[in-house]
Amino acid sequence: MTDLFDAQHIWHPYTSMINPLPTFKVKQAFASTIELEDGRQLIDGMSSWWCAIHGYNHPVLNQAVSDQLQRMSHIMFGGFTHDPAIELGKALLEIVPPSLDKIFYADSGSVSVEVALKMAVQYWTAQGQQQKTNFITTRSGYHGDTWNAMSVCDPVTGMHQIFGSCLPIRYFVPAPQSRFDGEWNPEDIAELAKTLEQQHQNIAALIIEPIVQGAGGMRFYHPEYLRQAKLLCEKYNILLIFDEIATGFGRTGKLFAWEHAGVEPDIMCIGKGLTGGYMTLAATLTTRHVAETISKGEAGVFMHGPTFMANPLACAVAVASTKLLLSQDWQANIQRIEQHLKQGLAPLAELEHVADVRVLGAIGVVELTEAVNMASLQQQFVARGIWVRPFGKLVYVMPPYVIRPEELEILLRELKAVVAAITSGEAHVTA
Ligand code: PMP
Repeated sequence: MTDLFDAQHIWHPYTSMINPLPTFKVKQAFASTIELEDGRQLIDGMSSWWCAIHGYNHPVLNQAVSDQLQRMSHIMFGGFTHDPAIELGKALLEIVPPSLDKIFYADSGSVSVEVALKMAVQYWTAQGQQQKTNFITTRSGYHGDTWNAMSVCDPVTGMHQIFGSCLPIRYFVPAPQSRFDGEWNPEDIAELAKTLEQQHQNIAALIIEPIVQGAGGMRFYHPEYLRQAKLLCEKYNILLIFDEIATGFGRTGKLFAWEHAGVEPDIMCIGKGLTGGYMTLAATLTTRHVAETISKGEAGVFMHGPTFMANPLACAVAVASTKLLLSQDWQANIQRIEQHLKQGLAPLAELEHVADVRVLGAIGVVELTEAVNMASLQQQFVARGIWVRPFGKLVYVMPPYVIRPEELEILLRELKAVVAAITSGEAHVTA
């Protein structure tokens, strides 16, 4: 199945070039179905890592891309502007936290995180606080693969030790332990409070994924953590950055996860589902106050401007995707998926090798007691006609919102069969 040229020459995410994991060649994809070159059809459980929220090959999104293509696929954003960027800006300001007012378009989630971190530093230097250049975050977080984004990822899963002393050293506090649907334990916030009290003079911002810690552990934590964190940020003059790249556009049952806590950030990153998974685009949004403070600083400008900033094709499809989402009863649809995931995954909690089963919105997570053999499990899922890509101890699904009940039923049935059959010999650490 693995293509020889591909295996020999093309790097895939987090893989070896000596011993690459097997890959499956995709011919095409429609709605929730991925068709492999050999004709096999897979029900998609991953939405291509959170982003294909409307499924693949959606006629409305296809049309938006093709319409824009007739006008121009790209134009530099320095000195020019265009309708797709403006329309998208208007659509976004309707749905993000009300205090956010200024938009910076970036080309990927990681870049939008870099932009957020730079905004925070420029905000403080503009006020003569040159020493406020560091960041604080929680363990088990994930914010991307570029240098500074990586520096605020969980030190273990972000593999900080590989990059040694060249990675900036950040302040880390324990990940929130109170579960989303459990009791709030006030002890959860103690380390953040203590570290901020001691180090706030050096810290520009707290960066955190609200409610759902994604690639760092697929953990759902208590909204009170965010409320307390916001109070601490205000007390100690720290900006609050929410990374909503994974959680945005309905995935957790709210349009954005901050709504679970009612806490607004100073800076927010969005991406992934922004274009419905059609193209890479992200955005960093901030308040008028932060933007104006930066603009009054010595530099007078915000120092970032990528070549493909506000790419018109990507902006056009993002407008169409956002409108498409809002034109439906998306909330009821996510609730349908949530109920189905809860019901379907619950029996797995009984298994000895399953540590936890949790569901929030259209995210279902099965945490095992040991790390799984990703290559073996992936082959088994494909053999059963589903696309699920586990990592570490986690087998999880976040299907496209267009998944039909009968497709979700098959996805869950086959996932359960594979997880139930994991023997302790098979559940071992992979490359
Ligand atoms: N932040 C979060 C929360 C993410 O989940 C991701 C992507 N998994 C990123 C940032 C980085 O986004 P990208 O891969 O588009 O650079």
